[in-house]
Amino acid sequence: MRSTEDYVSAAKRNLFVPAANMEKLGTETLPRLENSGGIYVYDEDGRRLMDGPAGMWCTQIGYQRKEMAEAIAAQAMALSYNSPWYTTNSPAIELAEKIAELTPGDLNRVFFTTGGSTAVDTALRFVEFYNNVLGRPAKKKIIVRKDGYHGSTSLTAACSGREGNWKNFDIANEKIEFISSPNPRLHPGLSGSELVEQLAGEFESKIADLGPENVAVFLAEPLLASGGVIIPPSGYHARFKEICDRHDIIYISDEVVTAFGRCGEWFASEKVFGVVPDIITFAKGVTSGYIPLGGLAISEKLVARISGKEAKGSFFGNGYTYSGHPVSCAAALTNIEIFERDGLLAHVREIGPYFQSSMQALAQLPLVADVRGNGLVVCIECLADKNAAGVTDLDKKIGARIDEIAFEQGLIVRPLGNMCVLSPPLVITKSEIDDMVAILKEAIVRTA
Ligand code: PLP
Repeated sequence: MRSTEDYVSAAKRNLFVPAANMEKLGTETLPRLENSGGIYVYDEDGRRLMDGPAGMWCTQIGYQRKEMAEAIAAQAMALSYNSPWYTTNSPAIELAEKIAELTPGDLNRVFFTTGGSTAVDTALRFVEFYNNVLGRPAKKKIIVRKDGYHGSTSLTAACSGREGNWKNFDIANEKIEFISSPNPRLHPGLSGSELVEQLAGEFESKIADLGPENVAVFLAEPLLASGGVIIPPSGYHARFKEICDRHDIIYISDEVVTAFGRCGEWFASEKVFGVVPDIITFAKGVTSGYIPLGGLAISEKLVARISGKEAKGSFFGNGYTYSGHPVSCAAALTNIEIFERDGLLAHVREIGPYFQSSMQALAQLPLVADVRGNGLVVCIECLADKNAAGVTDLDKKIGARIDEIAFEQGLIVRPLGNMCVLSPPLVITKSEIDDMVAILKEAIVRTA
């Protein structure tokens, strides 16, 4: 066994991780996790930590599910890989069929990718291809929202409206247009329906300015997860879809975070947010993070317009070596079986209100300016001065400080500047929620 010091020095020397603080590269490393079980992970010293963010919003069924390990091993022994260009495999076919059954509307054509970024990238490339095949090459503009996050490829990072993802990258993309974040907190004087109308008006004006013949797609998360769990006012998505339909604009719902139970449904678009989009992207929860997989489900109507004789000889020249990877698809099928057998969606619908009301109790504490969420995802927004209009540089350090104290007490929090996001594994129980809230409370009180 290698010693802790040995791991630390090798990590400092050779490991380069996402969002690395370059000033500290080579001098600092991250906590090393070694083991897990249920909603907990264990660090290098065997210390138990409650996994508040479920990894990266993904470990829905919890850790150490033996059936997952067995399904992965069995598929790796049977067929560990096949080229998706020349062949296919049974798990990919079965998973496409299953996802088509679970998606709303006629979103029945499923393309597999390697994760969320490649799912959104493929969805955008599909729309580009679609408009070119239809002979309207000018219809290319992509409308996205400030505070959105869609991934880390060049195209999806450019679609992400959070400046932190942009610094020192050449991110500009002339096809991309931003509109306002649907954040009710930024519009305290407006009712929900007034805000929907104001945002819809801005969307219509943007389309009119660009010319509808130039606008291809509206890309939106149902709730803006990495932007701080921003929940648009009721009716927002349906109103935007109606505008899209009027202008022949494709509506892509990025469900990389919300799909597979986070809001108590397989997909949140229709049943939670009242919209049947044209394309849904998914990743993370589809395998509960046991192995990488992403994908998109596309409306049959769209596909029909550019396939068969309408295809005019074209090939959809987009794909990945690991599209429809048999081991990933086998893991996803087992993951879905576990959801069904354990009634996980019903569990989230039942325990979600308890989770949200327990978190709401923290709103009384000093520092806490807002608590908002849906199902098993919540954001606690903090401000040194609760009534201040903007976020100061000092406020931006609060999330990290709360995380630091919570970590000492055995809870991992996802800090996002002045916000803390919690999205635990869906198998969490009421008493585990109580433990989580108690630690958070102490961490917030000690930070204040
Ligand atoms: N879309 C959304 C809404 C996300 O939250 C994320 C990641 O958090 C992505 C896309 C990118 O997914 P991935 O990191 O799997 O590439």
